[in-house]
Amino acid sequence: MTKKALITGVTGQDGAYLARLLLNKGYEVVGGYRRKPTLNTWRMRELGVDNTIRMVPFDVLEFDDILSVLQDVEPDEIYNLAGQSFVAESFRKPLFTSKVNAIGVIRLLEAIRIFNHKIRFYQASSSEMFGKVQQTPQTEATPFYPRSPYAVAKLYAHWMTVTYRESFGIHANSGILFNHESPLRDLNFVTRKITASMARIKYGQQDVLELGNLEAMRDWGFAGDYVEGMHAMLQQDKPDDFILATNATHSVRHFCEAAAHACDYDLVWTGEGIHAKGIDRKSGKILIQVNPLFYRPTEVDLVVGNPKKAKEKLGWAPKVDLPALVAMMTEADLRRASAGELE
Ligand code: NDP
Ligand code: GDP
Repeated sequence: MTKKALITGVTGQDGAYLARLLLNKGYEVVGGYRRKPTLNTWRMRELGVDNTIRMVPFDVLEFDDILSVLQDVEPDEIYNLAGQSFVAESFRKPLFTSKVNAIGVIRLLEAIRIFNHKIRFYQASSSEMFGKVQQTPQTEATPFYPRSPYAVAKLYAHWMTVTYRESFGIHANSGILFNHESPLRDLNFVTRKITASMARIKYGQQDVLELGNLEAMRDWGFAGDYVEGMHAMLQQDKPDDFILATNATHSVRHFCEAAAHACDYDLVWTGEGIHAKGIDRKSGKILIQVNPLFYRPTEVDLVVGNPKKAKEKLGWAPKVDLPALVAMMTEADLRRASAGELE
């Protein structure tokens, strides 16, 4: 029988990749979207899945929405990707972030418990929960130390997922995913901000790229790989928690160098801290400068995840490494900029 999956947050980066994966596996895919004047379908369009997903209005802030979607759709699996996903924004909107990322999740879990506790559930947890890391690399056994309202809210949702699994026997899974990027990443995130800015600078559409902390280290993977792990978690006999990561970490500074190189610049650095500047050696043009506006009140300095458990139990491993990821993102943004499609 055809399996039915509900993807909340289907209009986001992971939603588009997961929808494509599940459609290719023969699922009927229903996507939850927030009611807005204009529906944000560009990612699904880029992956060619916008016409094959049934879209339903869905907001994790509305219990009525959740119940009526569950009654109407009767899904076998729910992937909860809905979230206020930007860490920096969570410092400016901590209450809203908590409502969506923490309380929104218990609304869904409650609806599953009441409506049909056999529905399998995936919660989009985050490496940000490790925050001020207590152990390197991080594993599923590493203690958490969240450093932002985003991370605290995600940690609440993570423990609620574990609690509903252990208390009510729900097949509730927490995927602790390290940063994963793609050409569909929102422009607020540092990777896409860098590749899009480099492409715009190349085509004379932007003067300079302004960044915050260049020394932060992240374990960056490719979103297309990570959605395979999400699906694999829900196919296990028993629900569990899994880290998905590459086990390699790189600085923002390094990411800039790789993206600049892919745009045919030869990036060299001068100055330290807020005075750091990235300059193209050949032309002398300033490509990158620091703007303290982009620093955060508290920072996650370094994360790197060990995906050993996912490899052993799910047979999951990332296929795209950092050079390939930077090449993929830069190529897409250069193409968009040359066509004047990068706003
Ligand atoms: P995006 O920001 O691209 O997508 C987030 C999605 O959530 C969008 O579809 C957005 O809708 C939707 N959304 C926001 N608020 C609500 C709400 N109140 N009700 C329903 N939907 C809502 O994020 P990603 O695709 O990158 O990430 C997916 C999930 O995984 C997020 O929860 C994120 O926090 C988490 N995560 C992501 C990581 C990453 O590196 N990408 C790492 C670890 C966890 P709209 O289009 O209307 O804004
Ligand atoms: P996050 O890990 O989910 O917060 O993903 P981001 O891509 O938003 O940030 C990754 C790291 O890049 C963080 O340590 C940021 O402080 C750092 N960073 C440096 N400059 C910027 C910037 O201009 N924008 C963003 N988003 N992050 C930046």
